[in-house]
Amino acid sequence: TELSRIRNFSIVAHIDHGKSTLADRLIQLTGTVAERDMKEQLLDAMDIERERGITIKANTVRIEYPAKDGHTYVLNLIDTPGHVDFAYEVSRSMQAVEGSLLVVDASQGVEAQTLANVYTAIEADHEIVPVLNKVDLPAAEPDRVKTQIEDVIGIEAHDAVEISAKTGLGIPDVLEAIVTRLPPPHEGDRDAPLKAMLVDSKYDQYLGVIVIVRIIDGVLRKGDRIRMMKTGGTYDVDDVGVYRPAMTSTGELGPGEIGYLNASIKQVRDTRVGDTITTEKHPTQNALPGFKPSVPVVFCGLFPVDTNDFEDMRDAIEKLALNDASFTFEMETSAALGFGFRCGFLGLLHLEVIRDRLEREYDIDLITTAPSVIYRIHLRDGEMMELHNPADMPDPANIDHIEEPRIKATILVPDEYLGDVLKLCQDRRGIQMDLTYAGTRAMVVYDLPLNEVVFDFYDRLKSVTKGYASFDYQMIGYRQDHLVKMQILVNDEPVDALSMMVHRDRAEGRGRAMCEKLKDLIPRHMFKIPIQAAIGGRVIARETLSAMRKDVTAKCYGGDATRKKKLLEKQKAGKKKMRQFGKVEIPQEAFINALKMD
Ligand code: GDP
Ligand code: MG
Repeated sequence: TELSRIRNFSIVAHIDHGKSTLADRLIQLTGTVAERDMKEQLLDAMDIERERGITIKANTVRIEYPAKDGHTYVLNLIDTPGHVDFAYEVSRSMQAVEGSLLVVDASQGVEAQTLANVYTAIEADHEIVPVLNKVDLPAAEPDRVKTQIEDVIGIEAHDAVEISAKTGLGIPDVLEAIVTRLPPPHEGDRDAPLKAMLVDSKYDQYLGVIVIVRIIDGVLRKGDRIRMMKTGGTYDVDDVGVYRPAMTSTGELGPGEIGYLNASIKQVRDTRVGDTITTEKHPTQNALPGFKPSVPVVFCGLFPVDTNDFEDMRDAIEKLALNDASFTFEMETSAALGFGFRCGFLGLLHLEVIRDRLEREYDIDLITTAPSVIYRIHLRDGEMMELHNPADMPDPANIDHIEEPRIKATILVPDEYLGDVLKLCQDRRGIQMDLTYAGTRAMVVYDLPLNEVVFDFYDRLKSVTKGYASFDYQMIGYRQDHLVKMQILVNDEPVDALSMMVHRDRAEGRGRAMCEKLKDLIPRHMFKIPIQAAIGGRVIARETLSAMRKDVTAKCYGGDATRKKKLLEKQKAGKKKMRQFGKVEIPQEAFINALKMD
């Protein structure tokens, strides 16, 4: 295809503003899929992605569109992840296209992720076409939202395309706008050596690793021997093609095109997003700048509820890691929980997705320990260590100071909830950076410790604003603060899975809450059990679980043997879900529930 007849674009939107529905419409209207094969949300492939309405990996689809000018255009849509955890992934895949459709729900207006995503598109030098969706809704106010886009984002919006992705209204106008208002690929020399960008890769259980590529120069052909310039890996290309959205072999891809290649690559880890792909025979001289790999920011321990599941869990984790190079794991042993894994994630949603998949697809019940961020511990001898697990905390006597990661959080919220949002941010040790108005909504920007956000910030924000606030964040760096490790002792023994890093001023409150919760969660024993929270050797909170008066079976008046037997059996079954800890048995739910903050 000639460059002038190609348009490569992405769709950026806040969650639920209609990105997937619009993509479906574009695919449907251009007859890319037969009507009978049409099912909703064609691009969101994985079950979990579908259920949660999110995209985790970049997907691409080729659409052929006969435009009003009489020419047929090839439109390549890259669908990028839609959640803040994957923001860095989004910014990378946006480098593979020249334009974006900015979809805004005309009844809601601009939200936090609208801003975050459109700024990413602007940084990638995209031409942007604003699209107002859901104009079929009685509450739609397209004119107000156009003004808002101009005021808040600062881009021209008077000629925004007004559509309803639901009814199909305006979809032809979107296709025309893509052709007339978005630019063709800027460069591309068919005769030059191959230069292609590795956009993303995913693991398919039948085909192995599939790589999404954007061709800059040259032609990629089936049978080529390719080289990844960063990793140095060389592979024979078995297949080249495009998604329509079903995989369709084309035998080659030329300049400006986006498609897939399949080259018997074993694991996703062998591919690096942003790498330059060239051929062994005629390599290009200048590689693309490349990207930093994304790094995990949230860590937690995952342990099987049933210790016999450990080997199955190892297999499952290794399989998941095949498809997800941004997720890290290493074995961990805990006195309370036995063998498990310390895992690293891009954010809390990423953590939940991996945990869900382990439980659902691999049928393993898990205990998740308190999520932790990466602390920088500066030791007295001048060394600095990164702490991923409170259990590895060095002796406080050797610590000079500790730094924690901070984020810049942008929150958009209707006026009437502003007070609650400010209070929540203040409670979480936030520092206000900005407060402005975008129409009837306030936009607050806070500098917050990531550690205060990973627990339940998002849930709290949703609940204090009845779901009306939107939230987005980016990491901004590290800052020193008074951080301490708080331990929980049950019957005078530390339970390492419940250790956490907290701010010194918050430690007492947190500690008290934990002890109270555990008192309710741990069943009574034949003896008194002290439950304490401590910093170093100093106890900061304490509860006592009183002893059971008598043997439970004594209640059965001795005589009734069957009743007694039944009771003992019931106790035994209950024990399976308990973990013996010293002399104390702690139920599994205690670990999970104790970490939930209210
Ligand atoms: P995404 O999160 O941006 O991908 O949003 P979806 O495409 O999943 O849409 C979110 C919800 O809005 C779904 O329930 C859609 O059916 C609905 N929706 C999408 N477009 C329209 C529209 O034009 N009008 C109305 N009324 N609902 C829409
Ligand atoms: Mg979607």
